[in-house]
Amino acid sequence: MKKIDILGVLVDHVNMEEAVTKALSCLKEEKPGVVYTPNSEIIMLAYKNPDFCKVLNSADLVVADGIGVVHASKILKAPLPERVAGYDLSCRLLEKAADGTYSVYFFGGKPGVAELAAKNLTEKYPALSVCGMSDGYFDAEKEKLIIEDIRKKQPDILFVCLGAPKQEEWIYNHKDELSAGLILGVGGSLDVWAGTAQRAPLKYQKAGLEWLYRLMKQPSRFFRMLALPKFGLTVLFKGKRVKKESSI
Ligand code: UDP
Repeated sequence: MKKIDILGVLVDHVNMEEAVTKALSCLKEEKPGVVYTPNSEIIMLAYKNPDFCKVLNSADLVVADGIGVVHASKILKAPLPERVAGYDLSCRLLEKAADGTYSVYFFGGKPGVAELAAKNLTEKYPALSVCGMSDGYFDAEKEKLIIEDIRKKQPDILFVCLGAPKQEEWIYNHKDELSAGLILGVGGSLDVWAGTAQRAPLKYQKAGLEWLYRLMKQPSRFFRMLALPKFGLTVLFKGKRVKKESSI
């Protein structure tokens, strides 16, 4: 599968349909499939932190969560077909799991959020098989119990929603202990399913302004979001050089 090098992060050249097919194909493999969904902020983090970049590049599928990543691919003259938001990809996988074909496990969010998400989703998809859930706030002792629980339940699809870079590092460190088929790091998805956070309205998404909506709803993200203009400038001035150095 073709990959596009964005500041050292190898993003798969896939549209949504292809991403769903690739993710589900991982379920046929013996080892767990891993899906990461970086936006510009996360790629900027990986650009500054080679260890984290290695974590991202170890995945079986890396999709462009943010429109900024798609713009960057155009600047680098290797355009990605479209944005594949982690939340949208997760919803598509849930649709595939809706008749109980695949079991799902929800890990992350504040206490009660995974339960609420499971309740809402099983109302929508009564045959959905939710085999387990846990909140995302843990110490070493609780983490052991969570890992044990996931291993016991053997979910086909494990949604890990701890925010970046925690979720990607957690998946990287624990994937082989989990007996899960497919593991996705998908940030705030559980909050949206639970109804404790809202996705930006479609007009913002279509205009590529989801970041603006998130900033308006959560002004505390301002400093995190300074990474966006930095990302644009870095791609513009250094992108081609990085691409050459890490050519695949
Ligand atoms: N979270 C968590 N454990 C933590 C830190 C965060 O479960 O130690 C959850 C948090 O409750 C929220 C999600 O991770 O549900 C992060 O959401 P955000 O939208 O910030 O994701 P990002 O944009 O960082 O991917």
